Amino acid sequence: MTAPLVDRFGRRVDYVRISVTDRCDFRCVYCMAEEMTFVPRREILSLEEIVAVASAFTRLGVKKIRLTGGEPLVRNGILTLAERLARLEGLEELVMTTNGSRLDKLAEPLKQAGVRRVNISLDSLKPGRFKELTRTGSLDDVLRGIAAAKAAKFARIKLNAVIMRGRNDDEVLDLVRFALDNGLDLSFIEEMPLGHIEEHKRSEVFVSSAELREMITAVFPLMATTDNTGGPSRYWRVAGSECRIGFISPHSHNFCHLCNRVRVTAEGRLLLCLGNEHSCDLKAVLRDPLQGAQVLDAVITQAMDLKPERHHFSHTDEPDIVRFMNMTGG
Ligand code: SAM
Ligand code: SF4
Repeated sequence: MTAPLVDRFGRRVDYVRISVTDRCDFRCVYCMAEEMTFVPRREILSLEEIVAVASAFTRLGVKKIRLTGGEPLVRNGILTLAERLARLEGLEELVMTTNGSRLDKLAEPLKQAGVRRVNISLDSLKPGRFKELTRTGSLDDVLRGIAAAKAAKFARIKLNAVIMRGRNDDEVLDLVRFALDNGLDLSFIEEMPLGHIEEHKRSEVFVSSAELREMITAVFPLMATTDNTGGPSRYWRVAGSECRIGFISPHSHNFCHLCNRVRVTAEGRLLLCLGNEHSCDLKAVLRDPLQGAQVLDAVITQAMDLKPERHHFSHTDEPDIVRFMNMTGG
């Protein structure tokens, strides 16, 4: 192994989130505009190129890779890709974030391919509202997907919910109950100002993690845990259960000093921070016939110097970052 990845602030980077596509079968109101223009297919990294990037990162000491998107399960060849990545030397965990719409059929094959854990997004348990928030999604499909993921016995399954005032904040306790009944973890995510959306004003629907926690503790006693994934989620355990409730609070709690991760967009841009544009073009290296694996390793290593100290998300309705979350690899 070459030297591990460390940035200017002494943070060790050992976790990479790779967006395998910017496409998605949903159009969630906080993530995408209704009409989206996607990147031309030739600009998207091929499966070979993704394997090359992942190999470089594992050579550089990365221990965990998350496949995300867009919706990773709409990418052709995703099972083959997962199988190849799971075999990379040094990789300890291959995990995925999905909207769950295709898990009914794919949960078991993904588990067989070597995906250890899945995060599944679920913002509502009401079919009509689920459709409204995802614009195209079917709650039934996702519930079947969650059941299939449970049957496939992933090491852990976590639900992700973005809560918006007046849209789904009345379902917070129902989502906690659903997680408890199904033995799942659940994270609540504050909406982030990524991409320009017109469907709602982000400042008007903002609900802080602190408010959610208060709402939950009034019914379900929460015990603080020291569980830390090296990331933004702070976890509480529900008394009398194994389930953990996490809060991802980019607005109300800055977690940047603990940041151990970088992202690779579907077009092969290495993004050093979710809330900043500091990046470096890996595709240019991958597609240059004169450059090999050593150059790729060197470019990634040098890019660590670009990692900013922190993000500065604001509460205005103008996006802080114009790229949409589906590009970013959330
Ligand atoms: N399609 C998959 C899914 O929905 O789980 C993976 C990609 S999606 C971009 C990853 C996560 O980002 C989802 O849990 C989604 O709810 C969250 N997300 C998308 N846009 C967001 C935003 N503007 N603020 C906060 N979370 C967002
Ligand atoms: Fe698709 Fe996930 Fe974005 Fe929803 S949050 S539109 S499922 S990429």
